This record gives sequence, C-alpha cells and structure tokens, in this order.
Amino acid sequence: MSDVKYIFCTGGVVSSVGKGLTVAAIGRILKARGIRVALQKLDPYLNVDPGTMSPYQHGEVFVTADGAETDLDLGHYERFTDVSLTRASNVTAGQVYSAVIEKERRGDYLGGTIQVIPHITNEIIRRVKLVSRNEDVDVVIVEVGGTVGDIEGQPFLEAIRQMKHSLKRKETLFVHVTFLPHIGATGELKTKPTQHSVRDLRSMGIQPQVLIARTDYPVTPDIVAKIAQFGDVDEEAVIPLLTAESIYEVPLMLEDAGLGEYIVKKLKLEPRHDVDLSEWRQLVDNIKSAQARIKIAIVGKYTQLHDAYISVKESLHHAAIQLKRRLELVWIQSDDLEKGRGLAQLEQVDGIVVPGGFGYRGVEGKILAARYARENRVPYLGLCLGMQVMCIEFARNVLGLEDANSSEFNENTDHAVIDLMLEQRDVTDMGGTMRLGEYRCCLKEGSVAHQAYQKPEVWERHRHRFEFNNAYRAQFEQHGMVFSGLSPDNFLVEIAEISQHPFMLGSQFHPEFLSRPNKPHPLFLQFMRQAIERAEGVAASEVS
Ligand code: GLN
Repeated sequence: MSDVKYIFCTGGVVSSVGKGLTVAAIGRILKARGIRVALQKLDPYLNVDPGTMSPYQHGEVFVTADGAETDLDLGHYERFTDVSLTRASNVTAGQVYSAVIEKERRGDYLGGTIQVIPHITNEIIRRVKLVSRNEDVDVVIVEVGGTVGDIEGQPFLEAIRQMKHSLKRKETLFVHVTFLPHIGATGELKTKPTQHSVRDLRSMGIQPQVLIARTDYPVTPDIVAKIAQFGDVDEEAVIPLLTAESIYEVPLMLEDAGLGEYIVKKLKLEPRHDVDLSEWRQLVDNIKSAQARIKIAIVGKYTQLHDAYISVKESLHHAAIQLKRRLELVWIQSDDLEKGRGLAQLEQVDGIVVPGGFGYRGVEGKILAARYARENRVPYLGLCLGMQVMCIEFARNVLGLEDANSSEFNENTDHAVIDLMLEQRDVTDMGGTMRLGEYRCCLKEGSVAHQAYQKPEVWERHRHRFEFNNAYRAQFEQHGMVFSGLSPDNFLVEIAEISQHPFMLGSQFHPEFLSRPNKPHPLFLQFMRQAIERAEGVAASEVS
C-alpha cells in the first residue's frame, strides 16, 4: 500500500506534556474528515512490553483486543479515534533488539556484523510499515516515546529520518511537541528550550514542519512568530496548546487552531467529507455544563499515581458525561483501610470501584471496601481483581468460610475460591503469559449484566492468571450470587453479581478498555446510574 502517508510525532524539552494525547487528538481531527487513521507508539525502552513493569514506573498497561500488553497511550488513541488497535501498534526497543538477535542466532545474516544502522533501524522501519498492512489506512500517526536527545531514542529517530528520505517528501509530516516554561518573576513564556530541542532534532536530520507548544499560559502572537522563525516553520504551523480543563477539548483546540487543514494541505490528503466534530463538540459542552456532582471512590493500591488507573478513571468520566454529571473521584489507598483509615472517605461516596491489581499488598483493604459496599448497599463495580475480592469477601462473610482467599495470596488456604487457571499451572515466564485479550462472554438473561448490555453475548478484554474456582459455584449461588457472565463453554466465570443488592457486580475482564467518551461502557453506565440513584434519590431507570 504505497500511498499510505505518515505523521511522525516527537517530543522535546520535557516529558509528560501530553504528547500521547496530542497524537490521539490529531487522529480524531483527521477521522472527522473521513480520513482513515492508524496509530502507533514507538517506545525506546528495552523491556519487550510494559506488562512486567510496575505501575509506578509506567502507569497502566493497556491491553489490545489481540492480547498485547501495551503503553497507556494506546488507550488514548483508542478512546479518541475509536479505532481498535493491534499488537503492531506498540513497538519497543526490546522487541526490535530481540527480533534482530534471534535472526542473528539463526544465522540469517550470513556472517555479517550486526549493527544499529542498518539492522536495528531496518527492523524498526519494517515494524512501522506493519501497522497499515492489513487495513485500509490513509495515514499512520507514529509517536516516538521519550524526548529528543535520549540516547535510546536515537535509532528510532534515525529510522524515521530514513523513512522520510525513502518516501516522497509529501508523504511524511514531522510534528514536534514542546513545552513553553513560564518565568513567574517576569511573567514571560520562554521559547529558548523549544529552539534548542528543534536544533537537536535537526542535528538528527529531521526538520519538524509543525510545532505544538504546550503551555499553562496564553501565548501571544509575537511568541508564535518567534517560535516560527527560530524553528523555521510556517507561522500557521505553530500551534499553542493551552492546558485544558478536560483532555477531550484537545481535538477541538487543534482543529480550531487550523491544524487539521494544515495537515491535509501538507500531506495532500483527500478528505471524504467536511469536518464533522459536532458530536465531539456536544461532548465537550456536556462536560463543561454539568453541574450536579457524583462522588465515586477508586480503592486501589497505586492511587498516588492516577495514571495507573487511567482507563478506569476515563471510563467513569465517560459514564458521568453521558448522564450530565460532574465526576468527583475520591482516591482511596487500600492499605489505609486495613489500618483503620479511609473509612470516612468511603462513607462520603455513592459508588465504589475496585480496579485490577497483582500481589497481596492492599488486598485486605479492598476486601473491606467490598464488605462495606455489600453491607451498606453502595453500588460496587469490581474489575478483575475487584471481582475476585468481591468473591473472597462473600465467601468469608456470607458463606462463613473464614480463611477463603485467592491462591495468589495464600497458597495454603482451605478455601481457594479464586484459584490459578488450569492453563497457567505450568507457566514459568512472567512476560506475556497471562490470559490476555478479547474473549467471548455469554450473559444470563434477566441479570443486571444482561440488562446493562442489552444483548446475549459480548467480547471483552482480559489480563489475569487466576479465576473463580468452580468447586464453589453452587454454594455461592445458593446464597444469592449470580454468575451472569460465563465463557461459551460455561467453564470460566466472567461476571459475578449479588442479587439482593442494587448493583454489586464484578467482571473478570477489563471493561475499562472498551469505554469511549462518546460511547460509555454499559457496565460503567449502569453502575453510574445506580450511584446517581443513591445520591439523588431518582430511580436509576429514570436517570438520563
Ligand atoms: N492478580 C489477579 C490475576 O492474575 C488479577 C489480575 C488483574 O486484576 N488484572 O488473576
């Protein structure tokens, strides 16, 4: 497919200025013209994937439909463009080097010396081209992780430079995202770091054509002119990007600054229709006009780092936006509940979410949160580990199985109500070996889950090693637990819900990966309706 065009997006000055969001937003403004996009993140670190990294290092691990454990930016890409990405969309230096070294061991290089250029760079180029191989794509947007000047990023910059050289110039566009620091004493925004980072990029043979300047303060025309002059780009291609109240404003800000038109002109794209961002504008209007607040707790173990739960957080926002409420999140560190703290916070909220997690730290606190939700009839949504702790709590306090646990946390328990999946028993490597990606789930008619989804079966994304232990199914059911979602062979419990409760539901999968700002996930939506019922006294079915 020779007519695919590429937008390469690099970052400069500092990290964490929202490059991933910017890339996702560019995807949306192109899609708003009927241009078909695919997105890709190049991560220069040496891990093969982020699946084994601590959330403190890396934030959330986003799981694609085909079961890849990927960078959280892919979550932004999917949420903004509503395109389902594949494992080809996240390339790490770890994958690239492993592939090259494997070939070398096989003897594929026939005695040659293996070097960063051309072997590593060729492998990067091959993987960039893979993204558009099986799909109808007009533009691939490629984000290079890290900032210009990082040593491990160099092969990636060299690879995209070579792509610019081999493709015709009108087929690639380089976008550089920088940051304008503000000097409080003089009240000035400074462009010098941007100038330096453009210079660094040029020293790698790349001249950016678009400069997006992130800033916390309004940018005056003289600053724009200065950036254009020193960066050697068109003035219309300098896009100031002021910190927004909501991330969902970013596509509108870029569009209103003329970026969509500029990209179309420079890449000679052929839009299939006029720009249509009306649904998106409505979404942002809903966000800005929402008055009534709804307080939801996220009880997790990495709550100091909100990025660790970014898809969960966004899914809650999506549901609140649709129901025209302003979401107020209360982050509760689950270990605090174990130490007798945090209960006052739980008492203030109208819904409790226990997200996924690994390892024993904080689990007892999550079990306490589940107990609180069950006994006080507070809407509860358990995601993966959150479903497992809901079952452990039920076993301990309803069935009276005092030492009930998951064998992940206590191998010697008499009641492993959550146990290692059969196919996990012989697994020794930790990387990429969980039950990962999309699986079919059949819903039980008349259940809360079925009412929420309004269909008999769904596909959802997974990332776990443990599962509900079927030896306990009948006993749980006798006491009011409904297994409302099962794998097609009836073998794996995918959704559990408590019948005598307004909404206490846990899913073994991660619905948060499928929620979109304009299409909230049915389970989050139903949970939010019940939380609003509790907060405002209107029946959940009447909440709109
Ligand atoms: N640790 C649990 C398991 O492996 C839950 C995983 C998760 O929450 N993603 O089954």
